Amino acid sequence: MPALITHIKNRETIVTQDKTKPSWTLDQFDVEEQEGKSRFHDFELPLNVMRAIHDLGYEYASPIQAETLPYSLAGVDVVGKAQTGTGKTAAFLLTLIADFLDNPIKDQFDSEPRSIILAPTRELAMQIADDAKLLCKYNKLKVVTIVGGMDFEKQKKALEHGTIDILVATPGRLIDFIKRKSVFLDQVETLVIDEADRMLDMGFIPDIKQIVRATPKKEDRQTLLFSATFTDAVINLAGDWTTDAQMIEIVSDTQTAANVDQKIYMIESDKKYDLLLSILKGDDVERAIVFANRRDLVRKLLEKLKKDGMDCEMLSGEVPQAKRVKTLERFKAGKLKLIVATDVAGRGIHIDGISHVVNFTLPEEAEDYVHRIGRTGRAGKKGTSISFACEDDSFLLPEIETYIGRKLKAEHPPE
Ligand code: AMP
Repeated sequence: MPALITHIKNRETIVTQDKTKPSWTLDQFDVEEQEGKSRFHDFELPLNVMRAIHDLGYEYASPIQAETLPYSLAGVDVVGKAQTGTGKTAAFLLTLIADFLDNPIKDQFDSEPRSIILAPTRELAMQIADDAKLLCKYNKLKVVTIVGGMDFEKQKKALEHGTIDILVATPGRLIDFIKRKSVFLDQVETLVIDEADRMLDMGFIPDIKQIVRATPKKEDRQTLLFSATFTDAVINLAGDWTTDAQMIEIVSDTQTAANVDQKIYMIESDKKYDLLLSILKGDDVERAIVFANRRDLVRKLLEKLKKDGMDCEMLSGEVPQAKRVKTLERFKAGKLKLIVATDVAGRGIHIDGISHVVNFTLPEEAEDYVHRIGRTGRAGKKGTSISFACEDDSFLLPEIETYIGRKLKAEHPPE
């Protein structure tokens, strides 16, 4: 990989490159070299970014980062297959941040972002923006978030009054602002499309096409596209939007599911609730998410759990956005230990330290099984997923097994 070699610089080079002369030096970020692993030191990252990475406690680059960064930092387009929990967010954020810090522009105008990151859900967009802010802790790059269901005027102001380095957006709301001329995309240097497969499923492709058309030609911008699956449709879109892209594929099972102890409990449907309650009351449950397939079931479970004295909240399409954000914040801060969610809402939960995921109903799409259990076992920690299989849905198991490429042992729940 020639790109990698040109990007390795020694310590001195990195230190002297930084003009801010902070008291922090790279000596404070000591990571032993290890065979087969990349350290963040191996890439040409600005010192202030290394400091932020150090604060986050990352030591080695995750596989998707190790494979993506040599190309993306060299300006090459990347199409990456990676699920949440693999560290893909930092892979694309570090690319933008390093590039913008290394190549500052003199006349940066308001309303003209240097990059856009498109995400399918509000929760995911906000999570990406949070991660971006953490990585920009020691520099002055500006991150703006544009999502539906949140304060319109505030977002308009953020677009119209101030420079923008990283604009994280959901497609619909961004189009509103493009139409109102609150934002112009003709200066975009890097376009990131996250969870492309989900964008397809959610019918966002016409919106994204419109947004992509407002950015410079694909030869004149860098495009990074990530997707949990590489379907023909995703590959076609990637072909339309990227130039000579490097394809990178990370096998999901070893990433997320490897850290998850996956249990399947065979149980009659009318006994499921009692089992759920006893699992959730277990001492080993630190933070848990319960998934159910439909909104009405999520609501019913919430009501029952609350009646039984459990402190919990729900995340589903019927919960107003502001309330969802509050719930996620409380959950993140450890003030709330239990969430009941539908698949779409649950996809936005990118929080470490979730000890248990319970599938109250098996997902109808095998892919959602992987997304659900991927909420736990993140960032190198162990997690447990417990899936209930009853007379109504156990027929879905074989499809899940085929999708994840291994057999799951169905057992009777403990007494
Ligand atoms: P993502 O797949 O981007 O949602 O990231 C999953 C989680 O892994 C996030 O909580 C990140 O903070 C964390 N993470 C990302 N990169 C690394 C890394 N190199 N080492 C440890 N944790 C990481």
